[in-house]
Amino acid sequence: MVKQFIKNIVSATAGTLGWSLVKRGDKKLIVLMYHRVLPVTDARYQREEPGMVVSEATFAMHMQTLKDERLPVMTVSQWMTQTTEERAPLTVAITFDDGWLDNYEYAFPVLKQFGYPSTLYVVTDFLGQPAPFWPNKVLTLLLSPEAAITDEWQALLKLTGEDIKVPMSRDNAAQVIDKLKQYSDHDIYQALKPIPAATHAPVEMISLEQLLDAKNTMHVEVGCHTRRHYRLKENLSAEQLFEEVVEAKSILEQKTGVAVSTFCFPNGDFSEEAHNLVCQHYDAAVTTMRGINTADNLSPHSLLRIGVHNDISDTPLKFKAKLSNFGLR
Ligand SMILES: [Zn+2]
Repeated sequence: MVKQFIKNIVSATAGTLGWSLVKRGDKKLIVLMYHRVLPVTDARYQREEPGMVVSEATFAMHMQTLKDERLPVMTVSQWMTQTTEERAPLTVAITFDDGWLDNYEYAFPVLKQFGYPSTLYVVTDFLGQPAPFWPNKVLTLLLSPEAAITDEWQALLKLTGEDIKVPMSRDNAAQVIDKLKQYSDHDIYQALKPIPAATHAPVEMISLEQLLDAKNTMHVEVGCHTRRHYRLKENLSAEQLFEEVVEAKSILEQKTGVAVSTFCFPNGDFSEEAHNLVCQHYDAAVTTMRGINTADNLSPHSLLRIGVHNDISDTPLKFKAKLSNFGLR
């Protein structure tokens, strides 16, 4: 009788508390989001927005920290194919957005040393191109030591205000970029067009050959980050949306010869239509929403990530604080 009573309690406890613990689970996935990785001494580091870059030394320290913490590192795709039983209590995935050449130059060699795989989310039309994003073009113009305002700057000065002096500091340049954000991407690109230094920038994005080398020799998984980095909001036509989500995938598969199964939303934006299309064509997708993926909140086509840049992660302690996202025990 007493035995049965205890049995019932154990069973009830397992069925309520136990189950809720299993459901809450400890099968967590941290997806790290990086953009650029560069030595501090590299000119590209100095003209990048601080929120977009980690130094080569900081990146190596991050990887060493993951190793010291004995955390398994795998791609999002690998983690998705694991069964719940197979999943480690806590796994880390390393992702890079946009397809920067510096990832190939500085991050992948470090990852190769550690034997860690990663995913590079490539913008297909940008392969082997100069930095195609207008903030980079503007930063190049404003920070370059040989920068000089000429007649060709007229359209740009209408947007920035006439009172700017070049070259300027990174902080002042960041303010100019903030000011420009009130205008449409199209207007800003139009204003930059007449300025030769903005259009003839050096190549800063990974080429197809380098991408293939990274895939073949550096455990780099190829993910899709659209064709032109359009933000997938409601204002896109059905045709544009198809090009950014579906066509980008087939272009990438054709060029690399491998199946592309994960997607990354530019700027983290997506309309319901965009999300549905991504669900139809990819096994998983990452966002810029901050957090740790758990059994409870797991949403394979809107995975949470933790963004890392140098200022907030340049010591192992700061990096671990960032990894923990405050809520992780
Ligand atoms: Zn991006």
